[in-house]
Amino acid sequence: MAMHTVVAAAAALALCLVATAATAGAGAHPPAPAPVPAHDIASCLVSNGVTNFSLPASKSFKPILDSSLRYLRFDVPSVGKPAAIVLPASQRELQRAVLCARSSSLAIRVRSGGHSYEGLSYTSENHVPFVVIDLANLNQVRVDPASATVWAESGATLGQLYHALRLVPVPGTITVFDIDRRGPADLIAGLIHKWQYVGPHLPDEFYISTRIYFKPKSTNGGNLTMSFTGQVLGPKHLALSVLNKAYPELRLAESELSEVSWVESAAKFAGLFSVADLTSRQIGVGEYAKRKSDYVQAPISEQDMVKVARYMTAAPTEGSVSHAASWGQRYFLHNFDRLVRAKSKIDPLNVFNNAQSIPPSH
Ligand SMILES: Cc1cc2nc3c(=O)[nH]c(=O)nc-3n(C[C@H](O)[C@H](O)[C@H](O)COP(=O)(O)OP(=O)(O)OC[C@H]3O[C@@H](n4cnc5c(N)ncnc54)[C@H](O)[C@@H]3O)c2cc1C
Repeated sequence: MAMHTVVAAAAALALCLVATAATAGAGAHPPAPAPVPAHDIASCLVSNGVTNFSLPASKSFKPILDSSLRYLRFDVPSVGKPAAIVLPASQRELQRAVLCARSSSLAIRVRSGGHSYEGLSYTSENHVPFVVIDLANLNQVRVDPASATVWAESGATLGQLYHALRLVPVPGTITVFDIDRRGPADLIAGLIHKWQYVGPHLPDEFYISTRIYFKPKSTNGGNLTMSFTGQVLGPKHLALSVLNKAYPELRLAESELSEVSWVESAAKFAGLFSVADLTSRQIGVGEYAKRKSDYVQAPISEQDMVKVARYMTAAPTEGSVSHAASWGQRYFLHNFDRLVRAKSKIDPLNVFNNAQSIPPSH
C-alpha cells in the first residue's frame, strides 16, 4: 500500500512531496564494505579522556545508532555503519572527538536530531569510512526573557525547546484544530488554491497548514482528503470569526475547535500523548519513507494543483541528490557564492561535509 501526501505550510508556502513506501530499502544501496577497524579512534578517544562512545562490537552500538534514525530505509545491512559513535558531553570532548576522527582518517558525520531526509547525519557516500559525532548530550536551552532570546545547543530536541519557550508570553488559552475535508479533485484543488491566498495573509496569531492525501482507490471512493491543522493564539470565538470570514469555504464549525494551553498544542501537533513526552528523545518509531521539500515562489494555479495530485498518484518512488555545486547554485542562488566564501574561510579543508554541503572554493 502506498500513500502520497502534499504538505503545505502557511508561513512559508512550502510544498513537500512525500512518498511512503511499504518495502524496506527498496533498490537502495550496494553491499556494505568490511567494517573499518575501530581501535585507532577508540584509543585516541580514551587517551584524550573521551569515554562516552560506542563501537560496532558493543551491544549499545545499534540502539545508539538507531536512537534518532527516522528513516528505516537506512537501517539495513547494506548501508555502511560508522566505525564509532561518539556522544560528547562537553565542548572539549567534542573538539577531541573531531581531532581523533581526523587523526584516524575517518570522515565526520555530525548528528543533531537525525531527521535528515537523506540520512546525511549517520551515513556516508561511496562507503567512505566515518564516525558519527552525536550531539544528543549537548542539549542545553538557555532562555533570556529580558531580551526575548534563546540559545539552544544543537542536540536539543524541539520538545525541550518548546518546554523552555513557555517562558515567552503566549495567551493562557489558545485554539487548535485538526480537521479533514473530503471530496473530488476539483473541490479539493479549489480549497488548496484559496488557502494559498488566505494562509499568508492571516493575522500573525494564526497558523494554518494543509495536506492532501491520496488514499488507495479502494478506500477513497474516488475522493481526495485534505487535512487542515490550525493554531490560533486566542480563544475559539476569535478563531471562528476570523477564519469563517477569510476562508468560508473551509466551513469551520465551533465543535471542531479545542482550547488548550500552548505547550499542550505543541504536544498535540507532534502527535504525542502528553506534554511530558515532549522531552523524550525516544518517542515513536521511524518510517520507510522518502521526502522532498521545496518552496513555491508564487501560488500554484488550480489547474496545476490538480496536475500535482495526478502526478502524485503515479507513485514516484525514486529521488536523487544532486552534487553540491550545481544543487547549491540553484538552491541558494545569489547567496551561494557568499556561502562558499564563508566555507572556504571557516572550513577550508572541508572537514565537515556531506553530499549536500557547501563546498570550499578550491
Ligand atoms: C518527520 C519529519 C518532519 C519534518 N518536517 C519538517 C518541517 O516541517 N519543516 C522543515 O523545514 N523541515 C522538516 N523536516 C526536515 C528537518 O527539519 C531537516 O532534515 C533538518 O535538517 C533536521 O535537523 P536535524 O538536527 O534532525 O538533522 P540531522 O539529521 O542531525 O543533520 C542534518 C545535517 O546537518 C548536519 N549537522 C547536524 N548537526 C550539525 C551541527 N551541529 N553542525 C554542523 N552540521 C550539523 C548533519 O551532519 C547532516 O548533514 C522534517 C524531517 C522529518 C524526519
